[in-house]
Amino acid sequence: METLVLKGREALEKGAEYIADGQVVAFPTETVYGLGADAFNEDAVKKIFEAKGRPSDNPLIVHIADKDGLNGLVREIPDGAKAVMDRFMPGPITVIMKKGEKVPESVTAGLDTVGIRMPSHKVARAFIRECGTPIAAPSANRSTHISPTSAQHVFEDMEGRIPLIIDGGDCEVGIESTIIDMSTDVPTILRPGAITAQMLAEVLGAVKTFSGKVVVAKAPGMKYKHYAPKCETVVAADAESAKSAYDEALARGARPVIIARSDTCGLLGNRTRIDVGGSEKEICRNIYAALHKGEKIADFIVCEHFGEQGICGSVMNRVLKSAGGKIV
Ligand code: AMP
Ligand code: MG
Repeated sequence: METLVLKGREALEKGAEYIADGQVVAFPTETVYGLGADAFNEDAVKKIFEAKGRPSDNPLIVHIADKDGLNGLVREIPDGAKAVMDRFMPGPITVIMKKGEKVPESVTAGLDTVGIRMPSHKVARAFIRECGTPIAAPSANRSTHISPTSAQHVFEDMEGRIPLIIDGGDCEVGIESTIIDMSTDVPTILRPGAITAQMLAEVLGAVKTFSGKVVVAKAPGMKYKHYAPKCETVVAADAESAKSAYDEALARGARPVIIARSDTCGLLGNRTRIDVGGSEKEICRNIYAALHKGEKIADFIVCEHFGEQGICGSVMNRVLKSAGGKIV
């Protein structure tokens, strides 16, 4: 299968045609690129799992362009969910609610709940509107690989596997949406993201943060390996340990690279580095592109620990999974 990469009006029209025909189309959002299909078409949804090589017990998120899109998707909208949606949608958040009858089992992996997201990205919204149906989508990477934040990233993973990639430029946010489960008594964050626990607590009074034991895979990366570059990756607690990990790798004949914020890059001498910027938003926006670049130019990635607070805490949730939890 040939994989087209298109922009603008032509991309939206072709994309909607493929969706109506039960095909899978990659599209940009403000978080990462998604791999979409008609959420009400069971066979089309199955093609997403095939293209990604994703286990069928890992549910998808259903994307809508406006509030009317919720019709038929959810059984009820709890007050808390309404408050979260009013405050943060459109934007980088997914709200889990009890699913409506029309939502196929393949979308929710047999769960009684469905994840709803309304992206703020102009192209994503125009695409969903053009399709005239909710779009079920996970990230547009091969299962376990790094999530894509550019059309080129998607092409590298999906060439020959899907008919079309809609190119909407680089993703602004850069990591996946915050997932909040509003189907339980206490709202619980299943995946941290750019909308932080503090921001949600302001609206809800209290939320349970992402933590604790894994019983069932409810959020990505709890059960499966995720966000992993093709080469060994470690997290360095500070600039000094980053330098030693780099130097040791070099001494054993590896080609290492350090991913770090701009300030830290200034302390690295002539070591190969990828600068992800200074602010937490820049780090978030650039982290996946840095991991993509890292696995291309090196065979050992050392990533600086960006901290545990706010958005950097969400970024580290992904980076630590890339590194299999390994801190040097
Ligand atoms: P991705 O962003 O590529 O990992 O795909 C969507 C993610 O949303 C899945 O991995 C799930 O963890 C999460 N998700 C979607 N629907 C639900 C749900 N009903 N309950 C819990 N998590 C969900
Ligand atoms: Mg994913």
